[in-house]
Amino acid sequence: MKLYNTLTHTRDEFVTHEPGKVTMYTCGPTVYHFAHIGNLRSYIMEDILEKYLGYAGYDVKRCMNITDVGHLSSDADTGEDKMLKGAKREKKTVMEIAQFYTDAFFADCGKLNIKIPEIVVPATSYIPEFIEMVQGLLDKGYAYLSEGNVYFDTSKLDEYYVFNKQDAEDLEVGVREGVEEDTAKRNKADFVLWFTKSKFEDQELKWDSPWGIGYPGWHIECSAISVKNLGEYLDLHCGGIDNAFPHHTNEIAQSEAYLGHPWCKQWFHVLHLNTQSGKMSKSTGEFLTVSLLEEKGYNPLVYRLFCLQSHYRKSLVFSWEGMDSTKTAYNKLIAKIAGLNPDSAEAVDEEAFVNLKKRFSDAMDNDLNTALAVTAVYDVLKAKTNDATKIALLKDFDTVLSLNLLEEAAKVREANKKAAEAAKNAPAAALVITCTTEGVDAETTAKVEALINDRAAAKKAKDFAKADAIRDELTAMGITIVDVKGGVNWSK
Ligand code: AMP
Ligand code: ZN
Repeated sequence: MKLYNTLTHTRDEFVTHEPGKVTMYTCGPTVYHFAHIGNLRSYIMEDILEKYLGYAGYDVKRCMNITDVGHLSSDADTGEDKMLKGAKREKKTVMEIAQFYTDAFFADCGKLNIKIPEIVVPATSYIPEFIEMVQGLLDKGYAYLSEGNVYFDTSKLDEYYVFNKQDAEDLEVGVREGVEEDTAKRNKADFVLWFTKSKFEDQELKWDSPWGIGYPGWHIECSAISVKNLGEYLDLHCGGIDNAFPHHTNEIAQSEAYLGHPWCKQWFHVLHLNTQSGKMSKSTGEFLTVSLLEEKGYNPLVYRLFCLQSHYRKSLVFSWEGMDSTKTAYNKLIAKIAGLNPDSAEAVDEEAFVNLKKRFSDAMDNDLNTALAVTAVYDVLKAKTNDATKIALLKDFDTVLSLNLLEEAAKVREANKKAAEAAKNAPAAALVITCTTEGVDAETTAKVEALINDRAAAKKAKDFAKADAIRDELTAMGITIVDVKGGVNWSK
């Protein structure tokens, strides 16, 4: 499998430290607000990556942090504390906010069929591990104490800016939201490992440490949580592109300085979801959520498909028109699948299965080309093979795509069946019976109308002999009948 690596700026062959096993780390959400659908684009693509690695035969162990402390609004060490900001906004404690938005994030993941990583660690539950790593960095001379805070000393590294050396993608890296200088730093790029001199008088969460009461910087959490859970050699690290600098750059600096050897070789970054007016961002408070999509009548899986239809290394512009056309495409796709016979007793055509599966795997092996993988679904539907083979392939692809292809098709089939039964059992629309002769008495009219209705019922029941007999009876009464659209005209 080839995967683009932000560290080498090329599509590298995916190799793991231990054959057949993948350790994968994902930067989790900062839980001071709902995740927006931009954040969730990153998590959808990381989910697809994890599932595809499993599909390709790897044993994947994945870990994700939950940022509930230390993340300041600049991504560097300045600005407001995001968690405090959320707590103030809602007049709740930081831990209440953290719990509420962690649960909301998991609920959104559920709706989008994003599997929750097997190991999830809230940063506040790992304070001793952070202290241990910061102490290790101090002991090795990679960190220093200044004006009450512990800083990482970037001048001690041969190379600090590991991602953004040369090319255009760097323009997307390191989108900061207003940086002010911290005079306690020795070097401009140094960053905080532990704050003891809190900038925030009302800092809620504080812990004792060898350097005084304080709280951890944002970056240390991912290094410590990853090393503790996934070991000293990490195969794959993921995040949105804004994480590359400074967050991932700092993670690499800390982890490699602490471990004394290279840490993670493969870096997977998802480009942003933008609105027509720019980046979607939590901090501005203007963003779209999964709940909003639902309120507007979209199945969240339509958004998943919207994301899969474009490549993760391209920025994606969100639009309601785009969502509408994806919704139409999704519904048509499901309707086509509903047309397959799930009870077919035919055997799976092994040759067709292998050939069509290869199209899917080739697309995914080529730097996770999900758009082409979705095309492979249409190829299956068009293929000249039996329904059993098609259904087996769709089931197989959907273990990765997670679009509920067969489940939604089964629902459509069930709804179609119910509609057909309802139509069969519905009472026939009343016949419009019109007498074209004036002055016929009420008794004759009632008798004739009853016979005409009996004849219509006999015809519906395909009892044509009875229908003819009724017509003969009417003729004998001197009644002529003419069938017209929606009814019968009669005269005497
Ligand atoms: P946060 O909750 O801000 O820590 O971000 C959670 C994840 O979403 C990180 O991996 C970010 O890099 C990613 N992210 C933030 N904004 C966007 C966006 N507009 N599009 C895609 N991913 C994003
Ligand atoms: Zn991280």
